[in-house]
Formats: sequence, C-alpha cells, structure tokens
Amino acid sequence: MGNIVAIVGRPNVGKSTLFNRLIEGKKAIMDNESGVTRDRHYGYGEWTDKHFTVIDTGGYVTGSDDVFEEAIRSQVREALEEASVILFMVDCHDGLTGLDQDFARVVRGMKKPVLVVANKADTTEKAHMVGEFYGLGLGDVYPISSANGSGTGELLDEVIKHFDTKGDEDPEEGIPKIAILGRPNVGKSSFLNTLLGKERSIVTNVAGTTRDAINSRYNQFGKEFILIDTAGIRKKSKVKEDLEFYSVLRAIQSLQDADVCIIMIDATRGLEAQDLSIIGLANKYSKGVMIMVNKWDLIEKDHQTAAAHQKEIKQKLGEMHYVPVIFTSVLTKQRIFKAIEMAIEIYHNRVKKIPTSALNNLMLKEIDRYPPPAVKGKYIKIKYLTQLPTHTPSFAYFCNLPQYIKAPYKRYLENKMREHFDFEGVPINLFFRKK
Ligand code: GDP
Ligand code: GDP
Repeated sequence: MGNIVAIVGRPNVGKSTLFNRLIEGKKAIMDNESGVTRDRHYGYGEWTDKHFTVIDTGGYVTGSDDVFEEAIRSQVREALEEASVILFMVDCHDGLTGLDQDFARVVRGMKKPVLVVANKADTTEKAHMVGEFYGLGLGDVYPISSANGSGTGELLDEVIKHFDTKGDEDPEEGIPKIAILGRPNVGKSSFLNTLLGKERSIVTNVAGTTRDAINSRYNQFGKEFILIDTAGIRKKSKVKEDLEFYSVLRAIQSLQDADVCIIMIDATRGLEAQDLSIIGLANKYSKGVMIMVNKWDLIEKDHQTAAAHQKEIKQKLGEMHYVPVIFTSVLTKQRIFKAIEMAIEIYHNRVKKIPTSALNNLMLKEIDRYPPPAVKGKYIKIKYLTQLPTHTPSFAYFCNLPQYIKAPYKRYLENKMREHFDFEGVPINLFFRKK
C-alpha cells in the first residue's frame, strides 16, 4: 500500500473541490470491493514525483449536520485509519464551528500527522481568519483556496514530507488497465455494468445520452484490473458528426491510458472502418488489443458461424491478425468473464520477458532452417537476439548486415516468434542491429 492522503471535515468546507484539484488530470477511481456498498472516492495524485492516493471522505457525510454520530460514519474512521496523512479541512468563510470541534476530536484520536487546511482563504481578509483554527490544537494551519489553487503547492510540499519513501512507485503499477472501446450502442455500458454489478452509468439504447467517464477498479474472483470507461462524452445537443468526433477523440485518450483495449463490435454489423482505425492506432501505440463480438445472441448460428465470422474479421485485420476474437453476449452473460480473462492474458503477454537463452535456442534454429536471403551476393548472418527492456515486447537481432533484412523476412521471424512464445493480442517490434 502506498501513501494515502485522507481529506476530512464537515460538509461544504470544500473537500471534494480540493480532491479534484489534487487528482487533476487523473480520473477518480471508484473502489468496487465486492459486496460492500462504498462510495468512498479514491483518486491518484502526484507531486514532485511522489505518487499518492487521495481519499475524499465527503461521500460518507450526508450533509445533515444535526446528528454528529450519524454524520461521521464508521467509513470515515476507516479511511482515517488507512491514511498516512490527514488533511483536516475547515472553512475561513464560516470560521470555527461546533461541528469542526467534533471532527477535530476524532482526528486527534487517530495519532497520525494532521494538517489543518483552512479553505476558502481566497482574500487576505479571509486569510486572516486562520488564527482561530490554531485553537483546535492540531498544529500548523495551511490557508488555501481549493477553488483557485492558491496555497495548495505549499500544502503538498508539507504533505509529502510525511510520506513513507516506499510510496514512490505508481500505485497502479502492475494492475492491468483495460479500455473498452467501440462504436455507440455496441454494449459497452451494459458490459461495464454487468462487471461492476451496479448501475454505474446509465444504460440506454438511445445514442447520445450524457454520461460521465470514470475509471473503475475491479477486484473480484481473484482478478484485479482497472476499467477505463469510455462510454462518456456524448453530448445530447451535438450533431451526429460531432458525436462521432467526440467518441473517437475519447477513444484515443483512453487508448493511451490503457494496457489492453477491448474493441467491442456489434455481431450484426461486423468490423467497421472506425473499428479498424482504432485497432490500427492501438497497434501504433503498442497496446494490447482484442475484439469482442457482442450481441452474439442475435445471430442465427450453426457450427460454422463463429469460424466464418472469425475468418472475415482476420481478413480485414491483415497484418494485425494477432488480435484475438471472442464472441459474447452481454445480455445472456455468455463468455463475458472469458473476455476479461483474455484481456488479462494479453496484459501478461505484453509485459512478459523471454529469457535470452530460450529466445536463442528456438529462434536460431528457425533462422538456420530458413536463413535470410542473400542480397547482391552477400550473406546475412544473424548471430543472436535479445529482448529489450522496454514496456512492450521488442527484440534486437544482431547481425552483420542489418540493412539487408527485408520486410518479408521480418514477417517470417515475427510469425515464428508468435508460434514459440505466446504474444496473442500484442504487437511485437523487431529491430536489427549491427554486430
Ligand atoms: P465538501 O462538501 O466539503 O466536499 O465541499 P465542496 O467541495 O462540495 O464545496 C462546497 C462549496 O464550497 C462549493 O460551493 C464550492 O464551490 C465552494 N468552495 C470550495 N472551495 C472553495 C474555495 O477555495 N473558495 C470559495 N470561495 N469557495 C469554495
Ligand atoms: P454503448 O453505447 O456501447 O454503451 O451500448 P449500451 O450498453 O448502451 O447498449 C446498447 C443497447 O444494446 C442496449 O439496448 C443494450 O441492452 C443492448 N445490448 C447490449 N449488449 C447486448 C447483447 O449482448 N445482446 C443484445 N441483444 N443486446 C445487447
């Protein structure tokens, strides 16, 4: 577990405004632990190379401040227990209130680093109010304005001083990030809702419903991954072309964040031009890709139907034939967990490292069996190969005349590598270097 910053305080002091500022540019990640209804807001923040998780405890507090015990739920305490640093927020506009005092008592009991954040110090006049918050006896008071950002830099400088140095890594590292992409109406939201078991986003068959994009962390059945929800950005008022434009733009953004892209298509429509351009883009960015042919329940089938569809899709994919295809029905839940398993497998294919000995044992034999053709009477000799320490599978082949290795031979090597080492769903890069 990395560093956790919890924001606590009575309603309306500006907790969620600060939360959004701290996770600027990154989307909130909803925690979705099975069985428990939690509306704790998690997000990831970064400050001078330090990564941390921010919890906005605001979701727990109803806003009715009449019964304190009710307002401060056990979940708030739980969030505070998890925190490395507590940001106790008060409001310069209102000054110190009785409810602040009640919250302060709970916070004090935690015996953790607490920073008193005096929010809404937008004017010097209000900033002068900070003095009274020293009366809480919780130490230094940091005047900020969540609304305009002033003071937040100084606050974060202080926050990170309390971090455990182990929190330097990205907390999302090692968890597959999966983007679900596809044209409107293919079933993306239905798929997400089925996985998350909640009406997370509104499902409708009318294209053009406004939705918020949100990332969801999924942790069930021993599987952990992050879903990048791209169903969002569909503005009701937009004309059709704009809608297309936004959905493509959104897809591109999500694709860049993802490790693996699930391209969902409608079985009754097949693979369309826009799908192919997104797959091409995923290939360019070296992302894992798979095709999920949804609404399979609508297809009249015999034992050859899947094979025929698969063949047609592979033909359209051309050189991107490494992209696997799965036939699903979100409606009847057919193979939807298989689809997720496939995405996770692709993730592992993309990050795995093949030992140099295995690479050379298998590939040098293939090269011996079918050596690169001589060019202008010159023989090309590949001596050895190795995997490069890059984020996506890349290999360097060392040879005497790298410039003479042509595309067909490169394809031959790629195909052999795919036969020996499972790289289903991931593009692989081959480089030829002089040795
Ligand atoms: P929460 O209930 O503590 O999460 O509070 P919110 O973040 O929802 O903010 C409550 C209200 O205070 C909203 O109307 C915000 O726009 C406003 N607010 C938040 N931060 C500031 C600030 O720095 N200055 C001013 N003037 N208003 C703010
Ligand atoms: P999105 O626009 O890609 O998010 O698609 P939605 O999830 O909103 O689904 C569009 C419509 O297709 C809705 O009416 C869904 O009920 C329906 N739908 C989704 N998956 C399936 C499926 O597997 N089979 C059938 N027959 N309908 C589906």
